[in-house]
Amino acid sequence: MKIPFNRPFTIGGELDNIAAAVREGHLSGDGRFTQQCHRWLEERLGTRRALLTHSCTAALDMAAILCDLEPGDEVIMPSFTFVSTANAFVLRGAVPVFVDIRRDTFNLDESLIEGAITPRTRAVVPVHYAGVACEMDAILRVARRHGLIVVEDAAQGILAEYKGRKLGAIGHLGCLSFHETKNVISGEGGALLVNEERFVARAEVIREKGTNRAQFFRGEVDKYTWVDIGSSYLPSELVGAFLWAQLERAGEINARRLKLCGAYRAGLSGLEARGSLELPEPAPTGVTANGHMFYILLGDPSARAALIAHLKSRGIHAVFHYVPLHSSPAGRRFGRVSGPMAVTDDVSNRLLRLPLYFGLEEPDVAKVVSAVAEFFG
Ligand SMILES: *Cc1c(COP(=O)(O)O)cnc(C)c1O
Repeated sequence: MKIPFNRPFTIGGELDNIAAAVREGHLSGDGRFTQQCHRWLEERLGTRRALLTHSCTAALDMAAILCDLEPGDEVIMPSFTFVSTANAFVLRGAVPVFVDIRRDTFNLDESLIEGAITPRTRAVVPVHYAGVACEMDAILRVARRHGLIVVEDAAQGILAEYKGRKLGAIGHLGCLSFHETKNVISGEGGALLVNEERFVARAEVIREKGTNRAQFFRGEVDKYTWVDIGSSYLPSELVGAFLWAQLERAGEINARRLKLCGAYRAGLSGLEARGSLELPEPAPTGVTANGHMFYILLGDPSARAALIAHLKSRGIHAVFHYVPLHSSPAGRRFGRVSGPMAVTDDVSNRLLRLPLYFGLEEPDVAKVVSAVAEFFG
């Protein structure tokens, strides 16, 4: 039996919900399932307004529009992240300014933000890597001092916490992903969390092609028209129907993933003690993770390549990421670095993600662990 890196899952109820949406005859956006998802996200995460989108990428695009950037404005972010974190701001003509990450969490190093600020800086984008929170108190303090907007890339962070607050609901705006590789899935999918009242009305307009259609449906205006820039960011009701089944059981999904992470850690701790590999640092105090990812660090890139090949020969698919954005072709063209990127470069050379998904079983974890152990002999 092969063990894939990821396998999308249903938890039960997804197909019934989709059938119900079809039967009820509402397939475009913002039907009852989408509304239920919105209310759940607002109540459980503690955000002022949640809006489902096609993807976290779409939510980041909306957040970047809400930041009202001028060409040449700067946005501080880690280089160790997915493309969309930076691309959303480049689409607005802004310049991503990359800072290095912390050694323990691989999150943007909050102590480097102040040094990256210039008169053009408008926003900072903390990315909660692996669903482990950034140092939000320090980040919010710097942002307040310099009048910056904080956009959390919480793509990996559903229900994870920083000092009792849910990721994505802490900064001004937050972006979640429900891509099939994340914890809670709808195939493609995402949400924008609007944490401040002052952004709510414009977020609704941007999501509805630049029209005030949301106000019209609430009966607040008697016709709807084009009022601002925007695009079509709202997903079909079929996506909301699928997602609703999973959101209702998000806690259970995270608990299962955390258990599998624990099994990996227990299984591999002997190899760490022997110095063969490094395991993730435990989450910092006050930070509650959600079991999004399990990674190991190898000694160098060639050891990583050899381990990937070995696992492949045993039917196990392990993957690495990210090509640091500051060294990617588009990152070099559109962005710039602030300071050395030593930790980013080092981690991106040595990190390996092991298979982790809801349907993974303990015997699968044991099989991966023994294949890794076999590699080290
Ligand atoms: C997955 C991911 C995204 C993109 O999410 P999509 O829903 O696929 O658009 C953005 N940022 C980070 C950190 C991610 O992990």
